Amino acid sequence: MSQLSNDSAACSGFSRRSFLRTASASLVAAPILTEAHFARAAMMDAAAGVPEFTMKGVYIDANENPLGPSENARKAIADIIPNGGRYAMPVYIGVMKLFAEQMGVPMDHVMIYDGSSAPLHFTTLAFTSPSRSFVCGNPTYEAGQRAADVNGAKIHAVPLSKDYSHDTEAMVKADPNAGLIYICNPNNPTGTITSKAQIDYAVANKPAGAVVLVDEAYIHLSDATSAIDHVKAGKDVVILRTFSKIYGMAGIRCGFAIGRPDLLKKLETYGQSPMPITGMIAAQASLMDASLVPTRKKLIADTRNKTFAWLKANNYDFVPSESNCFMIDVKRPGKEIRALMAKDQVYIGRSWAAWPNHVRVTVGLPSEMETFQASFKKAMSTSASAFNERPFVRRDEDGLYV
Ligand code: PLP
Repeated sequence: MSQLSNDSAACSGFSRRSFLRTASASLVAAPILTEAHFARAAMMDAAAGVPEFTMKGVYIDANENPLGPSENARKAIADIIPNGGRYAMPVYIGVMKLFAEQMGVPMDHVMIYDGSSAPLHFTTLAFTSPSRSFVCGNPTYEAGQRAADVNGAKIHAVPLSKDYSHDTEAMVKADPNAGLIYICNPNNPTGTITSKAQIDYAVANKPAGAVVLVDEAYIHLSDATSAIDHVKAGKDVVILRTFSKIYGMAGIRCGFAIGRPDLLKKLETYGQSPMPITGMIAAQASLMDASLVPTRKKLIADTRNKTFAWLKANNYDFVPSESNCFMIDVKRPGKEIRALMAKDQVYIGRSWAAWPNHVRVTVGLPSEMETFQASFKKAMSTSASAFNERPFVRRDEDGLYV
């Protein structure tokens, strides 16, 4: 907690862009940006009047899981601490073996990382270039676009369909020289699903040589069908999984890339993750807990649906999500609502350049969502003149997010 407060205090006074630059500075040419970077940068815009950040308040801005690691994962972490002086190869091998078994693929089809930000970044670097573009939905999670940009690749951001799924027909047509087609399922920020049939279409009709990257960070929260069968069939498909969402391990760190060995090998050129023993053992304990996913899926869905009923009853427009985040159309610049709510220490998520009048909200605990409702209603009935924009608030030059 104190480390978080110190880090937060150290960040106050910086603009969003300088924060992202600072975050990137330790990695020479190609910064790995995570949800935490994007969320913290947006918070800095919203936190007018807050002298420094603390962990007090309601944090529903970064698609985190307020439940944290499961009881079994916590116990596993505590039990492994005496071995914290070791790199612990047996633990490394053990969790990879278990994950591969559960996914139904040989062990050489999986690679462990400290979350899925690293393999998202490496996959983008590996399969895009100045002559092979990056194709994605719009709006969608921005990290891939950032990596593609660093790589000098063209970005084709294809608007989502009317039902908020990825328009895979338009995506495969976007560029005959596409290198990577990124499908986030369920999508961040909309929480909406792209059907298996649409993903099958992308795999069957993608340009020759392109790879389809299916980011399944939120899949356990929804009824979406995994694209794992394409990996099993030897297709040009890479799947990403993380333990940051339903498993509540964003601060503990573990994730996987799943794909043909020759594809995974290409990612290795760009790096591997030094794995924390705590992350590996907590992931293993989580995978062995058969009740974790269904219990948490229901808990989060119940809270989400209760919030949707409240939004509906109050005539607020939102995108029906099947995940732990959703977009609300606030009919004015989203940053105004974010800044007004930050005064109540209720931190909601950012807006996207494609949808500047929507804000993303993460599903928190039931009590947090009650606090959210009161603050949101107050902000929505507060006039724009009560919103004082901070002088340093600016949109990025490239407009990838606001
Ligand atoms: N992919 C998506 C769609 C995300 O939303 C996130 C984080 O929020 C990530 C990947 C990366 O998460 P992490 O690095 O914590 O595993």
